[in-house]
Amino acid sequence: MSKNYYELLGITKNASPEDVKKAFRTLAHKYHPDKKGGDEARFKEVNEAYGVLSDDKKRAEYDAYGRVFSGGNGFSAEGGSASDGEGFDFSNFAQGQGFNGNANGFEFDLGDIFSDFFGGQRERVRRGRDVSVDIELSFSESIFGTERRMLLNKTSTCEVCKGNGAKPGAKMETCKTCNGNGKVRENRRSIFGSVQTTKACDACEGRGQMPSEKCASCHGAGITRKQEEIMVRAPAGIEDGEVIRLGGAGEAIRGGTSGDLYVKIHVTKHLLFKREGTNLVMDLPVKLSSALLGDEYTIETLDGNVIVKIPEGIKPGEMLRLRGKGVPIDRTRRGDLLIRITIDIPTKLSKEAKKLVEELKRQGI
Ligand SMILES: [Zn+2]
Ligand SMILES: [Zn+2]
Repeated sequence: MSKNYYELLGITKNASPEDVKKAFRTLAHKYHPDKKGGDEARFKEVNEAYGVLSDDKKRAEYDAYGRVFSGGNGFSAEGGSASDGEGFDFSNFAQGQGFNGNANGFEFDLGDIFSDFFGGQRERVRRGRDVSVDIELSFSESIFGTERRMLLNKTSTCEVCKGNGAKPGAKMETCKTCNGNGKVRENRRSIFGSVQTTKACDACEGRGQMPSEKCASCHGAGITRKQEEIMVRAPAGIEDGEVIRLGGAGEAIRGGTSGDLYVKIHVTKHLLFKREGTNLVMDLPVKLSSALLGDEYTIETLDGNVIVKIPEGIKPGEMLRLRGKGVPIDRTRRGDLLIRITIDIPTKLSKEAKKLVEELKRQGI
C-alpha cells in the first residue's frame, strides 16, 4: 500500500461520505498553500486522498487493493484542457458550507484551489491532443510482424523556433499583460456571487514572457500543421483489435508536451487459417480412401508448403499437429499449426466405385 489515505484525512475506514468531505474541508483550509502557515505538500496529499475516498468506485478499489486503477488518482487532466480533469465532484465541493472565498475571515483564491485539483495550472504541463489511426495488416503480417509507414496530417512543433514561437535570436521580454506573473486575476460570477479567480495569462499562455519578435514560420504559434511521416512497428503475433501507443507522436501544443498516437490494428481474415491463441488452425478435407488407407497431402503453411502424412484410419475431426508453424511466442518459440481432418464423402459414385463399396459392405465395413 502506498499512502494511507484514511490516515491522511484523519478518519477511519468506516468513515461515511460526509465524514470524508468534512475531514477534507477542514484539512484543505488548514493546509492551503496560499494561507499563512499553509503546507503545499500536505495540501496535495489531502487532495489526492479526497479524490480517491470521495469516489465510491475508487474507494472500493483502494480498500481492496491498496491502490486505484481506474483513472489514477483522478486528477490527471488529459487532453489539453485544465477542466478535463475527472473524479472531482465540483458541485459537492462548491456547495459545502463554510467553504467559500471569505466567510472565514481569510481570503484565498478559488481559482488556485481548483487549479490544484485539476493538476495545478501553475505546474501542470499542457498536453497536445492524442491522435488515433487505424491500419490494416494482412494475416501473415500480423503473425510475423511488420513495419508501416504512415503519413499523418497533424499539428507538429515548429522546426524553426523549436516550439517557443520566437524568431531565432529574439530576446524574451516580460509579458505586459500579466507583468510576468503568467496569471491574471478576473472576477467570475459563481454560486457564491462574484469571486475573484486567477487564470493563465492568454497573451503569454502563462509563461510570463514573450519573444520580442515572433517566429516568421509559425507566426508565433510554436506549432504548425503539416504532413509527418511516422513509422509504426507491429510486433510479431499482434492481434486484431490491439492498439499500439506511440508516446509523443500525437499533436503538438505550444509550451507543452505532444499527445500520443494510438494505432489500432485490424487484421484481414485468412481463407485457410484461423488463429487460436498462439496456434493456427486449418481444415484439411481428405478423400475417403486416404482416410481409410492413409496418404500424404501437400498443404500450405505460412512458411511455405509442407507434406503431411495422413495415418491409416484417420477419423473426421481428428487433429494433426505441425509443431512450430504457428504464431511466434518469443524469439525462439512458436505455437503450432493444427490440422483438423474432414472427410470428403463423394456425393455421386461411378458404377464401378459403387460395386467396390458394395463389396466393402459385404465385408462389414
Ligand atoms: Zn515557429
Ligand atoms: Zn502574460
